[in-house]
Parts: sequence; C-alpha cells; structure tokens
Amino acid sequence: MVSRIIPTSPFDFVLFGATGDLARRKILPGLFHRFIVGQIPSEAKVICVARSEMSHSAFVDMTKAALVEFAPQAKTQKENVSLFLKKIKYIKIDVFKSDGWNELANTLRSNIVHVFYLSVAPSLIGHIASTLKERGIAGSESRIVVEKPFGHNLHSAKTLNANLCKNFDEHQIYRIDHYLGKETVQNLMALRFANSLWEPLWNSSYIDHVQITVAETIGVKGRGGYYDSYGAMRDMVQNHLMQLLCLIAMEPPSTFKPDSIRYEKVKVIKALKPLIKFNITRGQYQENAFHRGYLDDLGHQNSQTETFVALKAEVSNWRWSGTPFYLRTGKRMHAHMSEIAVVFKNVPHSIFSEKVGTHSQNVLIFRLQPDENITLRMNIKEPGPGGMRLTEVPLDMRFAEQLGEKDNALIDAYERLIMDVVRGDQTLFMRSDEVEESWRWIDPIIENWNESKDTPEFYDCGSSGPKTSHELLERDGRAWR
Ligand code: NAD
Repeated sequence: MVSRIIPTSPFDFVLFGATGDLARRKILPGLFHRFIVGQIPSEAKVICVARSEMSHSAFVDMTKAALVEFAPQAKTQKENVSLFLKKIKYIKIDVFKSDGWNELANTLRSNIVHVFYLSVAPSLIGHIASTLKERGIAGSESRIVVEKPFGHNLHSAKTLNANLCKNFDEHQIYRIDHYLGKETVQNLMALRFANSLWEPLWNSSYIDHVQITVAETIGVKGRGGYYDSYGAMRDMVQNHLMQLLCLIAMEPPSTFKPDSIRYEKVKVIKALKPLIKFNITRGQYQENAFHRGYLDDLGHQNSQTETFVALKAEVSNWRWSGTPFYLRTGKRMHAHMSEIAVVFKNVPHSIFSEKVGTHSQNVLIFRLQPDENITLRMNIKEPGPGGMRLTEVPLDMRFAEQLGEKDNALIDAYERLIMDVVRGDQTLFMRSDEVEESWRWIDPIIENWNESKDTPEFYDCGSSGPKTSHELLERDGRAWR
C-alpha cells in the first residue's frame, strides 16, 4: 500500500501552556508521534512557552518524561526521542508581563507557517491573541489554535470571538474539539457521503431515533474547581455532543471543504427546537462503596452542578421531523464509552411467527471510545439445522487495521488535528457562528436551572445515571442501549 504519510512543509509551532497537563499528555506526545512516522520535517521547530521559571534543560527533561509516560514508542525509540528534543526550545513568558516576547519574536523564522497553540486557561486567550498581533509576532499567515471551553455562555463566547477576530481572520482561527479528530467521526462522513446506500434511509421515514452517549467512569479528579463552574451541559453537551449530533443530522454538503461542512452544521443547530424542561434531566453522582460522591470530591456540600445530563433534542426540518435525538453524558458512570447509535425502524410487517424469534431494530453504531469502530446490528438466520430461527449479529466494520499501516490507522485525535492546522485545513474545527449558535440553544436551559429551585437528581457512582434519564426514553416507548 502507498504510504499515506505526507510530510508537511517546515513550520514553527509555538505551544503556550507547555508545562500544563494537556501539553504533556497530548500535544507534545502527539507531535513526537507525527515526527517519528515522518510527517514532521526535520526543519520544524517546537517553541514551548509557559510562565514557570525553568531552565531549557529542565524543560527538556520534563518533556522526555512526558513522552516516556504518554507516547508508548518513546520507550523503545531513544534515538528519535533525542532528535525530537533537539527541536524544542523553552521560553519563559508570563503573558501578562513583557519579558520573553522579544525572544519569541526573534526565534520565529520568516516565510514559514507559524502555529500558536493556546493550551492555556480561557482567561488568557484574548490577551495572548492581542499581544501576538500588537508586537507583530503573528502575521496574516499565522494560525491560532484555541482549546475548549470556548466561553461559558453566549455572551462570553461572543466576547472571546470578538477578541480573536479583532486580531486574526476567521480562516486563521482553529477552535479545537478533539472529538472531531477521531477516526470514526471522519468515517461517519465517509460512510454517509461516499456510499449511496445510506442516503435514502437517512431520514425520519426509516430512522426511529438516534442515541448519543458520552460516558466517563472518572469523577472530577483534581479539576473540581473548574468543573463546578461548568457542569456537564457546558463541558460536554455544548461542544462534543452537539458536534456529533450535527454530523449525523446535517444535509450532504456540496463539497468536502471546511465552509461547506460548517454551513450545514450551523443549519442543524439553528433548526433545533428550543428545549423544554420536560425533555431534560440532570444528575449528580453520589458515593458508592468504591468512590466518593461529587460533593465530597469538591470538598463542599452545596453545589447544584450537574455531573450528568440526558436530553431529547428535536431537529425541526423535513428530514428529521419525528426522529428524536437522545443525548446523554455523565461522570462516574458504569462504563467508559462514547458512541452514536442510529436506530432504524422495525420492519413494517413480520412474516415470521413468534416461534422463529422476534427481529430487533437494525442499529448502526459509531463507537468512538474505548475501541473505535462501526458496527451494524442485523437480523439473520441462526446458522445450522432445525429450521428458521432469527438471531441478531453485529456486522463489524473495523476496517482500519485491514487497510494497513496499523500504527497510523488509529492515530490520536490531537495528532490529526495538529497536522490539519499545520496544513491549513479547517474542516474539523468549529467556526465562530457554530459555537455561538450552540450556546444560544444551551443558555436558556442553564438559566432556567439557575432560576428554578430544582436540584439535580442523585445517582450512584458506577450506575447508568438517574432514574429520570431512563424515564425520558421509556415514555416514548424506547430504552437506552
Ligand atoms: P494546566 O493548568 O495544567 O496548564 C496551564 C498552563 O498554562 C501551564 O503551562 C501554565 O504555565 C500556563 N500558564 C498559566 N498562566 C500563565 C501565564 N500568566 N502566562 C503564561 N503561561 C501561563 O491546564 P491544562 O489542563 O493543560 O489545560 C489547558 C487548556 O486546555 C485549558 O483551557 C483547558 O480547559 C483545555 N483543555 C484541557 C484538557 C485536559 O485534558 N487537560 C482537555 C480539553 C481542554
């Protein structure tokens, strides 16, 4: 098979927040992996910025330790680790002070792609963007990458967008949602738009409903302070789940170009019916024999923040009228799992007697975590003698490994997205209006929670969420998978 690794042009990659958790767990290991597979050219440089007082060699040691911990190949490829570490330069900058910026400006080479990856708290983003511009460090060809959370509500998202857009053109801004970098998410688009099979079925005449689940087994760990001011709705639904909903529900774009796709996604969000209280349930995890409850994790007892949300969304257009999208996400759930399940309607009439067995609804499942794959659940005849008996089997579409280059088939989402930024491809990044429309839909729900006296329902750690989450589907004659 022809190699699918296409080296990028040389670039300078500036990583703000380089000593932080995300940089050490994902960004530096991701760059290292792309380097060892040959996608990052030898001339590329990684300029790491943080406010920690640290010598260059101490930073290199920290990066080496991060690679050994988070990039499995680093343990065996010591020579490549040394080569990669030679690309790194550490510059101490407290972004609110003036030291270090000149050194950064002098380090950057001209006539080359500059990527500024802001792996820092949202409160720093506007300031970094304006400083880069005012000091002439960023130019018209620079790219700026912004991490989630993108705002706390519509107002703050608009302020952040305005700050960024004052200094950078929209085509230079990459708002990252790492879910979009997953192999299966892209395969979803390939499956939908490169096969004629699905389009005739992809509507409310054939699809009964869609379930989107992002479940985590972890609690808030050391992120309690951040999480308590966000909650599951802001932290997960507004971005990850909303993006997945858009990809399932959007109309076929006319091209596979960033704006074609992003226009279609915005149309979906705009077509969402306003959410009513009856269609949302929220919960908060409470202790079980193995884990502390949310309030104990937090260290105080009076938080109303939701660690679980389930809701029924309805897209009011011709394609989806009558097909609900059920979304749920939670922490400390019984399994770590993210998937989209497209549940088809049952056959209109069964020719089989009850003795033969009932046929289940076909379900097309896009599994994003833990093992990325796509399966279609089909009814077939149980093999063997004894006459007709129906049984349900999964048709496994785990093609990546068969298609070669095992190491590259399932690359980490961050790696793919970082390389897209370097190549200047915004297809898998959110545009400002997408983010704002999503907040416009979410904000009234949160405002209603804040105004009402309702409290989140408790659910046990390790369970599948609060009872009302099941009732949300049961009253429609359905059940969570
Ligand atoms: P972190 O707190 O671990 O790291 C923050 C980094 O910012 C550090 O390198 C610190 O030196 C730097 N910093 C802080 N104040 C600074 C200043 N005044 N000047 C210069 N540098 C400064 O945070 P993190 O977990 O790495 O997260 C970074 C961003 O990515 C946040 O916006 C977060 O919401 C987002 N994010 C993180 C994760 C994750 O898994 N950690 C996942 C998704 C999104």
